[in-house]
Amino acid sequence: MPDRLVLLGSKGGPALRPGGPWPSSSLLQIGGRSIVVDCGLGVTRGLVDAGLSLKALDLIFITHLHSDHVLELGPLIHTAWTAGLATPVGVFGPPGTDHYWRCFCQAMEFDIEIRLVDEGRPDIRELVSIVEFGEGEVVGQGGLTVSALRVDHPPVTDCFALRFEHGGKSVVFSADTAFYPPLADFSQGADILVHEAMLEDGIERLVAKTGNGARLKDHLLASHSFAEEAGRIASDAGVKRLVLNHLIPADDPEIGEADWIAAVRKTWAGDLTIARDGLVVGLSGGKAAQGEETA
Ligand SMILES: [Zn+2]
Ligand SMILES: [Zn+2]
Repeated sequence: MPDRLVLLGSKGGPALRPGGPWPSSSLLQIGGRSIVVDCGLGVTRGLVDAGLSLKALDLIFITHLHSDHVLELGPLIHTAWTAGLATPVGVFGPPGTDHYWRCFCQAMEFDIEIRLVDEGRPDIRELVSIVEFGEGEVVGQGGLTVSALRVDHPPVTDCFALRFEHGGKSVVFSADTAFYPPLADFSQGADILVHEAMLEDGIERLVAKTGNGARLKDHLLASHSFAEEAGRIASDAGVKRLVLNHLIPADDPEIGEADWIAAVRKTWAGDLTIARDGLVVGLSGGKAAQGEETA
């Protein structure tokens, strides 16, 4: 299995629009492990389309409990279970993740109990272990290291950037955050930095379309980063590739890839990928992976 990153859902925020992209989720395959990062709506569809057997579900990380990052966590695991999942799944998330999971299983109790009896499946509640983490090292096993950095995403306080390292390769996810300089140290020398981004031009039109105007705009400005700011972090960190993800706006017909590139080029001159659902970014160096597109 080649090391790769697949951007499954590339838009920021929970809204869905006709033909538009899905909320946040990614698949990172590194050192033989398949790691799901965030479980926004569409994650199950995205994983299947990326060629992952749901029975092979292994590790899941949740950066924070906003719905565009966690809404489909339960449905993903449940769908994997009905597809024959019989091996343990480790879920790592901020405080509150265990509550989400227990309540999900409670909401699905009828279906779970009936399948245990009717289909003889292992108990889904025993297959899943939830680990709630804070800042620092989250995982250190079999050559895989995962560490977390609390970022700046008010009013959510438990929101964590994640750094995955294996065999000399490293990938960092910024999670949702306003411009946060400590991310540059945290991302130092990473092969890939996946950073959230928004474009100033699109915010006004997005806010008008969504209908709760001023409050939404205030939230976006206080809690998210402009593309130029993501580029600044990437430059200060000296990463090998910057991936702009969690795009706001993601589905404005007046904004295209060229606009994102123009904004980020003010602060970042290195390798660049603008996320799109299903896009594959190779991690082995050299040859581009199939389906990969870069700019
Ligand atoms: Zn988000
Ligand atoms: Zn968020």
